[in-house]
Amino acid sequence: MRTTLEEVIKRLRTAQRVLVIGHIKPDGDDISSVVSLVLILRKLGTTAEGCIADPIPWFYQSLHGVSVIKTVEELKDYQYDTSVTVDASELSRIGDAVKLLHGNPPDIAIDHHKTNTGFGRLDFCDPKYAATAMIIYEIGKQLIVYDPNLAESTLLGIATDTGFFKYANTDYKVFLYAAELLQAGADIQHIASAVLEHRTLNEIRLLTEMFNALKISEDGKLAWSFISTEMLIRNGCTEEETDGLVGEIRAIHGVEIAILFIEWPKHHVHISFRSKSYADVSGLALKFGGGGHSRAAGCSCKNVDPESLIEKVISEAAKIL
Ligand code: AMP
Ligand code: MN
Ligand code: MN
Repeated sequence: MRTTLEEVIKRLRTAQRVLVIGHIKPDGDDISSVVSLVLILRKLGTTAEGCIADPIPWFYQSLHGVSVIKTVEELKDYQYDTSVTVDASELSRIGDAVKLLHGNPPDIAIDHHKTNTGFGRLDFCDPKYAATAMIIYEIGKQLIVYDPNLAESTLLGIATDTGFFKYANTDYKVFLYAAELLQAGADIQHIASAVLEHRTLNEIRLLTEMFNALKISEDGKLAWSFISTEMLIRNGCTEEETDGLVGEIRAIHGVEIAILFIEWPKHHVHISFRSKSYADVSGLALKFGGGGHSRAAGCSCKNVDPESLIEKVISEAAKIL
């Protein structure tokens, strides 16, 4: 049932033992939302644990609070009275952590995806928020006082989901909340350095191969590339290290839609869609079983032949341009 933030806050105030779950293939907003909500609840004196089913990319580990996130295995016997999912647009996005819900929907779902399916008992989703971390911040402000560490973990999500304050979703509220978090002691340089300056030489070599394989439509508006399993292995990279590469394709002058196909493992293809100023790629991702936002969306296709998948996706993408 769609609800208000007030109802969510009321429910969280009475909770005694909470389980917070984020989505698989964790990004900064996901990590930030899980960590921040757990820290808010603990400050309030509530018992709280956070779970993300996939491994956390190594470069987030230096940021405050990231180590509170536990695996599904570590939490399999954790008893809770309230479950909360954050930044997940549909239940399948929490991956194996669904086991911790024992067949029930989450008691509370908090999200900002346009393609959200409304799967929580209490369900709050508003795509006007640039980051789920901003919703968590509004909740937190009602419950506790922010310290520098909590401010840092909250700012992480706002910074990453807005491409460090430059995507179209960067509105007045983004800067306002970021300013408040800086005032509370967050260190934006620490976050930026951890998230933006971690490329390894292997990743740079992969990036070069990605650009060598780049294809571009005649009008220059649609650009795409394919990173095969072999390319990843050859460069000593995992799928985790492809994070952000699609943004490099979007950065090309004149490109409106950028698409990156990543095959890992063999015959499983993750597709990342990005658009620059007007194309809505969330519908495109939805067509192939995924979802997301207007300017950033994705999907994962299993047991497919990459070549024919690429052909299908590119022809669909061309239609919306
Ligand atoms: P990515 O290209 O993997 O960075 O994903 C961009 C955005 O698309 C994410 O922030 C998610 O909101 C969404 N997304 C990615 N993969 C999926 C998926 N398999 N199902 C639904 N949404 C997805
Ligand atoms: Mn996310
Ligand atoms: Mn998000």
